[in-house]
Amino acid sequence: MRVGIDVGASKLAFGVADASGVLRMRHRRAWIPSGDAQRDCDAIAAGAHELLARAGVPRGELRGIGVCAPGPLDAAAGVVLGPPNLPGWGRVPLCALLAQALGAPAALENDANAQALAEWRARAGQGVERLVYLTMSTGVGAGIVLGGRLERGADGLGGELGHVSVQWNGERCACGMRGCLEAYAGGAAWQRHLRRVTPASSRAAALAGSAGAVRPEHVVAAAREGDAFARAELERWNGYVARALAAIAVSLAPDVIALGTIAGAAGEELCLAPLRRRLREQVWPRIAERVRIEASALGDELPVRAALIVAERAG
Ligand SMILES: [Zn+2]
Repeated sequence: MRVGIDVGASKLAFGVADASGVLRMRHRRAWIPSGDAQRDCDAIAAGAHELLARAGVPRGELRGIGVCAPGPLDAAAGVVLGPPNLPGWGRVPLCALLAQALGAPAALENDANAQALAEWRARAGQGVERLVYLTMSTGVGAGIVLGGRLERGADGLGGELGHVSVQWNGERCACGMRGCLEAYAGGAAWQRHLRRVTPASSRAAALAGSAGAVRPEHVVAAAREGDAFARAELERWNGYVARALAAIAVSLAPDVIALGTIAGAAGEELCLAPLRRRLREQVWPRIAERVRIEASALGDELPVRAALIVAERAG
């Protein structure tokens, strides 16, 4: 049996799978990092223990632990290196801590990289050799799979597509640079923008309770109801995402670009079809016809599936 753990900035997800990869049980819960890495690691180990107990897995039967966490991290060493979304985490040997707590070897991977691998595997048999995955959650994570292998670039520096420039000298990004995709399409950045510009009379403000409480999901819901402001905002968001998709399509021509979270929630009419139309306007027709823009194939299960793939590496 293997356990997969996804450590997010606002949630923890756990899954247990048997040796043939069949998901036996999963659990997801809201979580606020405490600011103390040791206490957070204890809480993560306790959550895994609890799920293993519920799934009836005795300690001796656990073969591997897979952990996904936000970067930066050293996957080979199993060490998390002070991610901005996990306050108080300096250099944390997460694999060693969890291996000790749970009594099995552990492997670590950047969350977006592992999710890209899981999305690629979910399309096994569909002739997909090259896949790029983009997740627009708090930030914009990305992973590149080429020929069934993660492409990390020199020193693991590659694949950070959330920081492709989509606006010359544009908004300041959390990374310190300007004009990154994440500064426009990331959930946190988009939410800040929405709270500045949402009219109090808009449907999005009504759904949120007030304009100052608007979140991306309110805009998606209002756009689905036909609200003009929400539709325009989503079009603006699509416009920035499409610039990054064009850069990815021209440079890699992947078989699939899979999009998670906001794009998955907004769906075909509000997001995927407009993105394909914009891509056709920005790249050669042969490329636009070849590169498939799709929503995540795994949806809610993706973080746990990704962590369980990492667990295969653990022994
Ligand atoms: Zn950036």
